[in-house]
Amino acid sequence: MTEADLTDEERAIYEWQMWMPDLGEEGQRKLKSASVMVSRVGGVGSVVAYELAAAGIGKLVLAHAGNVKPSDLNRQLLMTHEWIGKPRMESIQRRLHDLNPRIEIVGVEENVSEENVAQLVSQCDLIVDCAPLFPERFAMNRQAVLQNKPLIECAMYEMEAHITTVIPHQSPCLQCIFPEDPPTWKREFPVLGAIAGTVGCMGAVEAVKVITGIGDPLSGRLLRMDLRKMSFQMMKVSRRADCTVCGTQKPAHQP
Ligand SMILES: [Zn+2]
Repeated sequence: MTEADLTDEERAIYEWQMWMPDLGEEGQRKLKSASVMVSRVGGVGSVVAYELAAAGIGKLVLAHAGNVKPSDLNRQLLMTHEWIGKPRMESIQRRLHDLNPRIEIVGVEENVSEENVAQLVSQCDLIVDCAPLFPERFAMNRQAVLQNKPLIECAMYEMEAHITTVIPHQSPCLQCIFPEDPPTWKREFPVLGAIAGTVGCMGAVEAVKVITGIGDPLSGRLLRMDLRKMSFQMMKVSRRADCTVCGTQKPAHQP
């Protein structure tokens, strides 16, 4: 029995998704063999991690620092009331294992930084980035491109969200799309939990698609949603030759 073979119990649990003809048992084995990193397991990342645990991803590498706060509970669905004041990562691991005790979880009580990002990315096949701030997202994007790992970028604000998928060296990276840290982006902002959950579910869908090879991922496309109006806009995005992360054009010589 190879590592990716399914047990009878797993066949029973994942039966209804294996009925999808392009997923099937082969796709389920790919999910079981895959490791996915979720950066910040908050409003968006909790839903990504929960859906990926339900789908039977073999290993989740999760990074999020700090203790559960009352203000987390409107959206961070892996945190529970009785865990207020205790480490978020303990609550996250407990809830995921309650759902699916078969998956391996590596819980890191740190947020992504320039210091830890290379080591974290080296532990996974694919990343779903749900960090709220651009310095963290830029560090993740740079490392994903460097280590050639697909990266799904999910972000939201109030009742708006956007999502794109980066296939390094093939599709535009985050820095091709956002060359600079947007000056208006803030650490704390209005969040309706269901909006975070919507883009989180989409992030999990993209991860399953890239791992199993089904469908068309959002590479080269940025989906912007205004859920107040239920308006969805698909934007074509292109690689930039002068991108400081994945560009092919050498920087101009400084005299
Ligand atoms: Zn780029």
